[in-house]
Amino acid sequence: MNARETLKINSLGHLSIGGADATELAKQFGTPLYVMDEQYIRDMCAAYAAAIRTDYDGNGLVLYASKAFSCMAIYKIVQQEGVGVDVVSGGELYTALRAGFPAEKICLHGNNKQPGELALAVENGVGLIAVDSYSELDALDALCAKQGKKQDILLRVNPGVEAHTHRFIQTAKTDSKFGFSVADGTAEKITAYALTKRNVRLQGYHCHIGSQIFEKQSFALAAQKMLAFMAQMRAKLGFTAAALNLGGGYGIWYTDEDAKLAVPDYTEYLRTVIAAVKEHADALSYPRPYLYIEPGRSIVGEAGVTLYTVGAIKDIPGVKKYVAVDGGMFDNPRYALYQAKYTALLANRAAEPASERVTVAGKCCESGDIICADVDLPPVKEGDILAVLSTGAYNYSMASNYNRNAVPPVVLVKDGQAEYIVKPQSYEDIVRNDVIPARLQ
Ligand SMILES: *Cc1c(COP(=O)(O)O)cnc(C)c1O
Repeated sequence: MNARETLKINSLGHLSIGGADATELAKQFGTPLYVMDEQYIRDMCAAYAAAIRTDYDGNGLVLYASKAFSCMAIYKIVQQEGVGVDVVSGGELYTALRAGFPAEKICLHGNNKQPGELALAVENGVGLIAVDSYSELDALDALCAKQGKKQDILLRVNPGVEAHTHRFIQTAKTDSKFGFSVADGTAEKITAYALTKRNVRLQGYHCHIGSQIFEKQSFALAAQKMLAFMAQMRAKLGFTAAALNLGGGYGIWYTDEDAKLAVPDYTEYLRTVIAAVKEHADALSYPRPYLYIEPGRSIVGEAGVTLYTVGAIKDIPGVKKYVAVDGGMFDNPRYALYQAKYTALLANRAAEPASERVTVAGKCCESGDIICADVDLPPVKEGDILAVLSTGAYNYSMASNYNRNAVPPVVLVKDGQAEYIVKPQSYEDIVRNDVIPARLQ
């Protein structure tokens, strides 16, 4: 599967999401509003889990990379689908634990984990920690010794496959703040060092080659390089890794340009990974490792739509037409960060053909506060409900209170019914942690 199935045009010519009329959602909950389709998320989790069962004898686990979208309800949903999670901070870990997520199915990542984050993880018994530095390994070993625990770990390794949306490159030595490089021997050194640590159990390796990647070969190449490295460690250090985590990064649909590149069914990415792991493990007579994969964007991205109300419209003759909405970089900073592209449409006139090219701007005091540049829409009027598609990943999770705008609420839609999973922020919420010291009174 891949989405678009969640979006329909109903008999009134309105956009519907998971069976709910988007214009009604805008009326009921106000705008800006994040809308997430529960069934889409469940179907994606189930499809990935099924691929591991059928193609890899169930010898693995899907970990949802929750940095893509994190709130308590999402952990419940993925838990119910039999999927584990990745967390990359104490805050995400705390959110998962507060939602009752089983700690043994949590993997903690991060290139600079803080002592408090490691302590929270070890105390609560998280299943795996992906270690990314010597000092972290030392700190974790000492912490486990103190607590009388033995922690399962992976080492973050950099296999030298650098993948981008439209291409991938093999690099001898990759410039990255993440991981230990295979090429320069540091991955081998940290392996030898980790094996001397008595309070951690080295289960294997982790790599993650990038995000929004369409080329299946880059995932296959990463699997091949990781297995070659693992076979080397077996030969040199006598260490056979039980587990291999090949990360996420599967590319999704944002625009029709992506549609030409993306695989039609996102489980194809995973099937390619599995086929490569089997092929290279078998060729090296290496026991097939327990396999983790960590899709984030592809589980939640297309499940999400953001609804806005159109406000001021500014036509600059011969230049462009700006359509301002009641959101902005505070709910979606991805254009400001990397000129991300999106598809937008008018939810209240979804069947009307596009006839003009506009740039959708936000309400923040920044010229770069753009939601999407150059999108084709029917003639836009003030009061229209604008829907921006594929905003389920890295939108809410990257939201801020810039300009002291409230982070919009999130509603979850199932069978046409919507309810909050993240409530709206009030102005009072915005000043909640502000303090005026007595001497300023
Ligand atoms: C971000 C990240 C992921 C998820 O990547 P997506 O592109 O959202 O699938 C998985 N693993 C790690 C370690 C990551 O940092």
